[in-house]
Amino acid sequence: LFAGSADFFYAADKLAILPPMRGHEIAFAGRSNVGKSSLINALTGRNALARTSHTPGRTQQLNFFDIGGGKLVLVDMPGYGYAAVEKAKVAAWTELIHDYLRGRANLARVYVLIDSRHGIKPIDAEVLDGLDKAAVSYQIVLTKSDALKKHEIEARLDATRTAIARRPAAYPEIILTSSRTDDGVTELRASIARLLSE
Ligand code: GDP
Repeated sequence: LFAGSADFFYAADKLAILPPMRGHEIAFAGRSNVGKSSLINALTGRNALARTSHTPGRTQQLNFFDIGGGKLVLVDMPGYGYAAVEKAKVAAWTELIHDYLRGRANLARVYVLIDSRHGIKPIDAEVLDGLDKAAVSYQIVLTKSDALKKHEIEARLDATRTAIARRPAAYPEIILTSSRTDDGVTELRASIARLLSE
């Protein structure tokens, strides 16, 4: 799936202009700076597919990527939780995301990225609440595992498992990743590939 091409094909900042639904779609969400662009680049084997080192919070569009020549659509969602973004903008993009999540019948799963060092913060919990409410299936992906020691990783995994245990739309398995060491990237690819065969 990820051996072939991965190409950007669409950016939407309004619901009215979302590309038509075709095939399976997956989406990546997370706080600004969680390592989302880096992970998408590691996943697709492309160096600059999703822009890294952009001004946090600036990318307020849903960016659509074609993976494997029509096999899968990957959606890079705007990072949330960046304090310097004005309230009006936050409201506009929260609405875009909610509308997208509610209306996207071909959306197979949202991968919610959580920084291993910080764990699930209140703003992440709000996003998970929204996904649970909209009954959109999601899976937690811990990022930057290289920044933690082994015992810290175990503690983070335990705490995260506990935090999602009662969440109805959460997939129970957590994927631990680092785009610096490529840790967990194979597992993430396998998780995505399994979705396509369901
Ligand atoms: P985004 O805002 O979520 O798209 O995050 P980026 O991918 O732009 O990364 C944000 C910051 O985290 C950058 O300084 C990256 O170098 C750093 N970063 C990204 N991935 C990793 C990782 O796996 N490990 C570590 N230690 N840092 C990372």
